[in-house]
Amino acid sequence: MNYHADQNGYYGIFGGAYIPEILHSNVEKLRDAYLRIMNEEGFKKEFHGLLRDYVGRPSPLYFARRLSEKYGARIYLKREDLNHTGAHKINNTIGQILLARRMGKLRIIAETGAGQHGVATATVCALMNMQCVVYMGETDIARQALNVRKMEMLGAEVRPVASGNKTLKDATNEAIRDWCCNPSDTHYIIGSTVGPHPYPDMVARFQSVISEEIGQQLSEHEGRDHPDYLIACVGGGSNAAGTFYRYLNDERVKLIAVEAAGRGMETGESAATIHLGREGIIHGSRTLVMQTEDGQIVEPYSISAGLDYPGIGPIHANLSAARRAEVLAATDDEALRAAFELTAIEGIIPALESAHALAALAMKTFRPHDVVALTVSGRGDKDMDTYLAHFDKFNRRP
Ligand SMILES: *Cc1c(COP(=O)(O)O)cnc(C)c1O
Repeated sequence: MNYHADQNGYYGIFGGAYIPEILHSNVEKLRDAYLRIMNEEGFKKEFHGLLRDYVGRPSPLYFARRLSEKYGARIYLKREDLNHTGAHKINNTIGQILLARRMGKLRIIAETGAGQHGVATATVCALMNMQCVVYMGETDIARQALNVRKMEMLGAEVRPVASGNKTLKDATNEAIRDWCCNPSDTHYIIGSTVGPHPYPDMVARFQSVISEEIGQQLSEHEGRDHPDYLIACVGGGSNAAGTFYRYLNDERVKLIAVEAAGRGMETGESAATIHLGREGIIHGSRTLVMQTEDGQIVEPYSISAGLDYPGIGPIHANLSAARRAEVLAATDDEALRAAFELTAIEGIIPALESAHALAALAMKTFRPHDVVALTVSGRGDKDMDTYLAHFDKFNRRP
C-alpha cells in the first residue's frame, strides 16, 4: 500500500480539490509549481538554512528516562516545543513563504483560530518583509489578546471576522474570499494538512523534516533508524503527518494519532473527528467531517484550541480507514493529567495539544524494549491560564 497522495491529491477516497470556479486558476498554479520549486537546489538550501539558523533545528530527540520507567518502554520526545515561536507550525510557514516569493507573490494572507498559525505567519512575513493580513474571528480575538498583540507587533494586520460563530471556520471563509479577490499578488498560507490539493501534500512535505530528523537521531541513540511506535496529536494533522512521513509505508512502525475527546465522546462536546465524523467536504477537501444528519457542520469543542477543528487532514482519514494508523482520543482531563505529569517528572511544560499525545501513553501496553517516539508539538506557555485554572485538581502535592 502507498499512503502518500496520488497525482490529484487523493489519499484513497479522501482529499482532492473541491473549490469554487473563481479559485481554480490560483490552486492550479500552486499545484503546477510546488513540487518543481520544492525540489530546486536553491530552494532546499534556503529552506534548510532557515530551519537551522532561524528556527533552531534539528530539534532534540530527548530520551525521557523517568517517563520511560513509568510506562515501561524506551520513550523519546521530539522537541518541537523548542522551535522559535514555540511549536512545529513555523516549519510550514517558512516553507510556504519561500514558495510564495518564488511565485512572485507580494502579499500573504492567513486564517487563525487561537492565533498560533497567525503568529507563525506574521513572524515569517516580518522576516521576509512581506505584507501580511490575518483573518481572525471576533470571539477568538477577545479570547487571545496576547497573540493579537504579537501579530500586530510583528507588523501584520489582524482583520476581525464578525460572521457566524466568529471563530476559525468563519475566519477561513473570509480568507478564501480575500484570495478570490486578489488572485495574482496574494498567497494564502494554510497552517495544517487541510484544504484543497496541493495544500495537504505540500504541508506534510514541509513538516516531514520532523520524521527525517527522528530517523537520524534514533540511529545515533538506538543504532536503528526506525521506532516501534510513533505518537502525535491531530488537529488538522500537520505535526502528525510530519512525524509519520518517512515511515508511512514502513509497516514495522506503528502509527498512533490522538484526537481530542473534549468532555467525552458521547457528550456532544468533542473534536474527535475521525471517531465521530462522516464523509463530507470541508474547506476544499473530501474528508471526515463532524456534521449533523442533514450535513450542517457541528461546532467542535476541545480544551485545546489547536485541536478544535471540525475536519481532519485527508491523509489521516485514509490512514485510519486503511487501518494503517490507530486513532485514539484523549479527554480534556486525560490531557491535563498528562501535562501535569510530564511537567512534574521531566520538567517540560507541554502545549495542551501535545498533552493529548502524551495521554496516549497510559492507554497502551508496551514491551520494555519498544522504542516510542512521541512528538511534543509545542510548549505550554500559551496554556498557562488553563493550567492554573485546573491547578488544584491535577498538580501533584510536593
Ligand atoms: C496548531 C497546533 C496543533 C494542531 O495542529 P496540527 O496541524 O494537527 O499539527 C498541535 N500542537 C500545537 C502546539 C499547535 O500549535
